[in-house]
Amino acid sequence: MSPHRVAIVKYEEPLTSVRRAVDLSGGLDDLRAGRRVFIKPNIVFWTKAVPFPKWGVITTTRVVEDMVIILKERGIDDITIGEGIVTRSPKDRETPAHAFNSLGYDALRDRCGVKVVNVMDRPFRKVDLGDGVELGFNVDILDSDFVIDLPVLKCHSQTVVSLGIKNLKGTIDIPSRKKCHNADPEKDLNFMAARLADRMPPIFTLIDGIYSNERGPGFDGKLRRTDLLVASADVLSADLAGARLLGHDPATVPHLAHAAANRNRPADLSDVEAVGERIADVASPHAHDHAYAQAEDGSWLPAPMVKDGIRGISYPKYDLSMCTYCSFLNGLALAAIRFAWKGEPWDKVEVLTGKSMRPTPGMNKTILLGKCMVAANKDHPDIRETIPVKGCPPKPEDMIKAFHRAGVMVDPALFEAMDQMPGFYMERYKGRPEFDEGFFKAIAARE
Ligand code: SF4
Repeated sequence: MSPHRVAIVKYEEPLTSVRRAVDLSGGLDDLRAGRRVFIKPNIVFWTKAVPFPKWGVITTTRVVEDMVIILKERGIDDITIGEGIVTRSPKDRETPAHAFNSLGYDALRDRCGVKVVNVMDRPFRKVDLGDGVELGFNVDILDSDFVIDLPVLKCHSQTVVSLGIKNLKGTIDIPSRKKCHNADPEKDLNFMAARLADRMPPIFTLIDGIYSNERGPGFDGKLRRTDLLVASADVLSADLAGARLLGHDPATVPHLAHAAANRNRPADLSDVEAVGERIADVASPHAHDHAYAQAEDGSWLPAPMVKDGIRGISYPKYDLSMCTYCSFLNGLALAAIRFAWKGEPWDKVEVLTGKSMRPTPGMNKTILLGKCMVAANKDHPDIRETIPVKGCPPKPEDMIKAFHRAGVMVDPALFEAMDQMPGFYMERYKGRPEFDEGFFKAIAARE
């Protein structure tokens, strides 16, 4: 069997489909009974405030539970499910606990004896990934004998796709996550992400494509029922196939191209043995990012805002240096600006984010969002009036004050209702039975 074998299987029914993906890929063939196994699902977001769309955002519990059953059949009893969910407050322990309970992981713990860990509660260990890259990884995954990596088949607005390699970012500590989104154009997010799997125990990757996500990674993407599973004992091969299934040439996905080069392998699938469904037959185009456009006055905004005729404010497109924590607030700020537009151009306002952006000369007011932007540009000679919003991430109330100072009268109620916002997206999936909440419940919990 090729070391780079990938199985592509249509999802048809519980257990049988995951079993077929496992068997066809041969991905558990080297796993011996009695080993310690760490399962890494993808819970990129959670809120306990409202029900929100999970399809294509979070690994289905169906796939997690099927993997637990298959592992137990193979004599694996020491199983840990671990995830480090990004929350607005890094000290928030209630939201991850709510996620684990709601997704049925607590039921799997009680019924099947698996351990469930919030990575943020556990120690981290520094790992040298070469070329001066050192990140702090969760000790449970590092000390396991075998990893089951369960990403979602999704596109990502920054890294094009987020699959098996990128899913491991959820096992590093917060300083390491911020470090991944650094301002160094050479060692950027793609460079860092490419190395996340390099010092792991052996990994079996099963990409959960029951649902997929266009313009992910979150609930604001276009969520689709896709009914595919991708499995491999080689995480890079799984990711290369996953990218192709999402309609992207994997060689053009920067972190996958880096990861292939680091392994002296091609990124074009030419050394991958694909079994099961033919990739060309089941692939479908998934866009990865949000279009931005330049207005006549030279300012940059999301394309729909330019189309709306919004003028006098420039909000350049997010870059790789913006961390997830600031990304949460970015979409909200843009929505607030759109609602605040009353048809009168604002006074040449620019909003800068992340760590790398530099001010555009000729603007009258420059809002620097987040402590990184403040540090990078507070004394920049091209800024006429600096409006700093410190904080990591910045506080919503400070953002409101900053926009008001710039003359952009955003509605504070929008920021106050930010916890409710994910719930509004549920409307899109109402009356569509293919979007089934049952995929996020453990069968063990129903018995
Ligand atoms: S301010 Fe924003 S971009 Fe800077 S480290 Fe904090 S979250 Fe990341």
